[in-house]
Amino acid sequence: MNGGAAARCVRLLAMLTLALDGVGIASISAAEQAMKNASPSLYAPHHESGRYFNPWAPQTSSFLDLLKWQLFSRNPYDKSAPLQVPRVANDGARLAGVEHSATVTWVGHATFAVHDEGDVFLTDPHFGARAMIPRRLVPPGIPIESVPAHAFAVVSHNHYDHLDAWSVDHLPESMPWFVPMGLGEWFRKRGRANVVELDWWQSAQHGRFTITCLPSQHWSRRVEHGTNETLWCSWLIDSGQRRYFFAGDTGYFPGFAEFGQRFGPIDVAMLPIGAYEPRWFMQSQHMDPAEAYQAFLDLRAHSMLAMHWGTFDLTDEPADLPPRVLAEAVRAKGGDASRTVVLAIGEQWHVPKRPAEIR
Ligand code: ZN
Ligand code: ZN
Repeated sequence: MNGGAAARCVRLLAMLTLALDGVGIASISAAEQAMKNASPSLYAPHHESGRYFNPWAPQTSSFLDLLKWQLFSRNPYDKSAPLQVPRVANDGARLAGVEHSATVTWVGHATFAVHDEGDVFLTDPHFGARAMIPRRLVPPGIPIESVPAHAFAVVSHNHYDHLDAWSVDHLPESMPWFVPMGLGEWFRKRGRANVVELDWWQSAQHGRFTITCLPSQHWSRRVEHGTNETLWCSWLIDSGQRRYFFAGDTGYFPGFAEFGQRFGPIDVAMLPIGAYEPRWFMQSQHMDPAEAYQAFLDLRAHSMLAMHWGTFDLTDEPADLPPRVLAEAVRAKGGDASRTVVLAIGEQWHVPKRPAEIR
């Protein structure tokens, strides 16, 4: 068996473990159909018979599609070239201090450390060596020990590249966790009692921060939880001075325009650009770079920070391809490349002053 075939088998094993009774969210055509007049369904009930669902995207089983992808579809990409993922040295020591305004540091994948004045929060903290089976390609941008005890964290869903048990166990025990419905028990069982479970559109207050759980178009499963037994979400974190949007994992859906209308303008939108091929299978659950750029425009955000690339090899496209595709998408739309930011792992980025047009 050559390296590519071996990698494919390992990945199939991982996917099967994740998807024993089916992954399943909307087929592409159903999702497109549902896109019309979808806004009311963003607020519709989304829990039935112990499982969550995306009300605007009718559920269809795609387990056979998963097998079709893994067993019968040929990956058109050549993944033999060494990956080009920039990384800069960062000991994380600055997180212990106070920022004059705000910075965001990319730890890798969907993990950012946001440092807003004297406060720190993490998104989907993953400092571990593996996302279940896929191994980490680039070490985390800062050491886990540099996360201060007063930090808090938001978690988007239970997939292994977003919820990492090793990281939860090694982050400060007192850390408050904000999680979507159904995940609280998982944290309490690990001795992490400071956990707040929220449903879509619910908010919690934490110091000067208003933390709001918002819909995303995705699904959930891990060994401890059956398919869609726990919710998935995006987060709006408002410090009073600055509004941050963290998308988690999501397909492109009408929620972005709704969030932009309701909560915009947004200072920083952290949006996934990777793990999108093949489109016929991935489109309903992961955006491609052009969709992520459109989501950024829908959100009326000032800056976009690209994430969910370069850290784990999860899908057909090479893990370092998405930033180049994003640059092309921004150029094709005549966009302002300086507002779509692709950080190096470990890079600390200063949140720009909010311009007059988005006050
Ligand atoms: Zn996911
Ligand atoms: Zn993911």
